Amino acid sequence: GKPRVVVVGGGAGGATAARYIAKDSKGAIDVTLIEPTRMYYTCFFSNLYLGGFKEIDDLGHSYGGLAAGGVNVVHDWATGVDREAKTVALAGGGSLPYDKLILSPGIDFVDGAVEGWDLSAQNAMPHAYKGGSQTELLKAQLMAMPEGGTFAMVAPPNPYRCPPGPYERVSMVAHYLKANNPTAKIIVADPKEKFSKQSLFQEGWANHYEGMIDWIGADFGGGNVSVDPNAMTVTIDGEVTNVDVCNVIPAMKAGRIAELAGVTDGNWAPVNAADMSSKADGDIHVLGDAAHQGDMPKSGYSANSQAKVCANAVRGALTGSKIFPAKFSNTCWSLIDTNDGVKVGATYEATEEKIAKVDGFISATGEAADLRRATYEESEGWYAGITADMFG
Ligand code: FAD
Repeated sequence: GKPRVVVVGGGAGGATAARYIAKDSKGAIDVTLIEPTRMYYTCFFSNLYLGGFKEIDDLGHSYGGLAAGGVNVVHDWATGVDREAKTVALAGGGSLPYDKLILSPGIDFVDGAVEGWDLSAQNAMPHAYKGGSQTELLKAQLMAMPEGGTFAMVAPPNPYRCPPGPYERVSMVAHYLKANNPTAKIIVADPKEKFSKQSLFQEGWANHYEGMIDWIGADFGGGNVSVDPNAMTVTIDGEVTNVDVCNVIPAMKAGRIAELAGVTDGNWAPVNAADMSSKADGDIHVLGDAAHQGDMPKSGYSANSQAKVCANAVRGALTGSKIFPAKFSNTCWSLIDTNDGVKVGATYEATEEKIAKVDGFISATGEAADLRRATYEESEGWYAGITADMFG
């Protein structure tokens, strides 16, 4: 029969890989995608939804285009991998055989990462770091804040998905509050000493949201934090604060199926840069946030870029088609305020050891308004492009 590829996870990495393998092999490879949700809500641009620049429906994408493109879409959870038998078990019963397995399950949270918080507290104190209902919940809580209330964020330690994500979120929350609740305050407890695009964000916060945002980094005790979801308090370096919203973004690890497949080492799954194959098993590939790959940040752009390299390599291995040298790229855009967009990005290549950065760029402080607007417009084009590339 035809060679079989099973892809676990229909997000930035998995949807792209499934679509490219099906499309480029023109039916020569049997491709099955396992994904529990019927609509994928992007985390990318979810901060713009918090800020009021997007509607929730703008973020949702269905799998109909992938099915039409020849991918066998199975809406279920993968619950285990038998590497001897080369099968993937499904929560709904039964199992699927594979010749090559691609895992792109995104992230899960490290247990006990923030004192006082666990998954049972995610309604009182949402993470909104997986797309969909959590994002909507955080927005509802933001809109329900009392006049002059306090929005707290507990920021995550490195490495985590979307390095500028928490700080774009702070900007978008501030944008919303400035218009709707201007005496409200934002406090950020951060276990890091510095963060992505820090000078750009801090310049923007001073320009647009003066006095609203109190960022407490590691040097000021930001890493010494606990929360009480019942009392709605946050304790930072011994000081207890009553808060109205508390966005807890805990430390992250690879989506659990990677661990169940036995391809993780610590929190993440080490891969070979040339084809994203697992260092533990050459017939399993790990993409996106779950992978420990080298210099690329964990982003949707990165996952999509890695998926194309992987799809080309898997197709080559299964059908003998030409394999091109691995090249990767990434850009992370962030919106600070209306038409005030900034970006950071780089190109990468595969070395023996890792995905290694070749060249990079970053927006500068003090840029002209028209350049910032052009950067924001570029991000709109990227969103349309990547979602079409993922879902057809
Ligand atoms: P995901 O896209 O999360 O996909 C994983 C999928 O796997 C999910 O659909 C899940 O349901 C499924 N899954 C998990 N376990 C199983 C299982 N056992 N069986 C079956 N399916 C399973 N990136 C950017 O490039 N640009 C941005 O502007 C940007 N902004 C962001 C803002 C925020 C607030 C956040 C949180 C993230 C942002 N990101 C951004 C990061 C981006 O969302 C992730 O890096 C990207 O989604 C990673 O792709 P992935 O394929 O690894 O995981």
